[in-house]
Amino acid sequence: MHAMVLKRAGAALEWTELPDRAPAAGEIRVRVLACGVCRTDLHVLDGELPDPKLPIIPGHEIVGRIEALGAGVDALQVGQRVGIPWLGHTCGVCGYCRAERENLCDRPLFTGYTRDGGFATATIADARYAFPLGEQAADVALAPLLCAGLIGWRSLRLAGEGRSLGLYGFGAAGHIVAQVARWQGRDVFAFTRPGDVATQAFARRLGAAWAGGSDERPPQPLDAAIIYASAGELVPTALAAVRKGGRVVCAGIHMSDIPSFRYRLLWEERQLLSVANLTRQDGIDFLRLAPAAGIVTQTTRYALQQANQALADLRAGRFEGAAVLVP
Ligand SMILES: [Zn+2]
Ligand SMILES: [Zn+2]
Repeated sequence: MHAMVLKRAGAALEWTELPDRAPAAGEIRVRVLACGVCRTDLHVLDGELPDPKLPIIPGHEIVGRIEALGAGVDALQVGQRVGIPWLGHTCGVCGYCRAERENLCDRPLFTGYTRDGGFATATIADARYAFPLGEQAADVALAPLLCAGLIGWRSLRLAGEGRSLGLYGFGAAGHIVAQVARWQGRDVFAFTRPGDVATQAFARRLGAAWAGGSDERPPQPLDAAIIYASAGELVPTALAAVRKGGRVVCAGIHMSDIPSFRYRLLWEERQLLSVANLTRQDGIDFLRLAPAAGIVTQTTRYALQQANQALADLRAGRFEGAAVLVP
């Protein structure tokens, strides 16, 4: 197999030949068909997340086809198309796992961060954390659903039932969540980098009631806001945009420091919370909902060996929607 490997934080990924490994008990080997590129990959590359496995094959939005089963895997079959998400393993016994909060497991493994991921021609996964995908949608179109979609869905759930929803950052997650929120009958207010009129127009095409720069106030107070961008200064900005009792959800795994702000922004029962990871139930729920909601992902395709270019383009905001690597 071949992979784009990160050998140390801050380095470029290197095209590397690796031995094909047989899946161990409980594992599957998957031929990668497509793998999405997520902002979290940039945080891994930049060394902003603690204790990565190094060297590591990044990538946690994997669409692939099973080519080998380890001992004891009976729920999946060779030839089946599956999705492999960020959540790669949980312990099953800690207090969080037993309370159906496996997203907060004390001893988890994360695909493309603490176990090898999908910027490769093949990958090995724990069979219990792979989602059957059926044969309906195209590989490239499905890939962004596996993190931007799943974690976007979890963040939307935690944002509550409010009708007017702000999205700060309108990239891979934002463009999927906007479609789900519209399907649910909500009004979407999209905030982009100031002056990014192309992304604002993209948001309006996806049904946003309003789109503007993150330095602008929405035309009405919001019931809730979700922050997908990694800029900590958006936290007080979003708190100032939500009404009394409103909620601000931070959906990223890493953010720059949040500047201090007046307590008044939080007062009146505004809530501030973060979303961490996903549970398998989130995945099952969202992958069932996505076709019903008619979600169409906007993707830019790159060859696997162009992973460094895809990551640079993501960092610079050079495409709308999501980048997807194809081996
Ligand atoms: Zn656990
Ligand atoms: Zn991700």
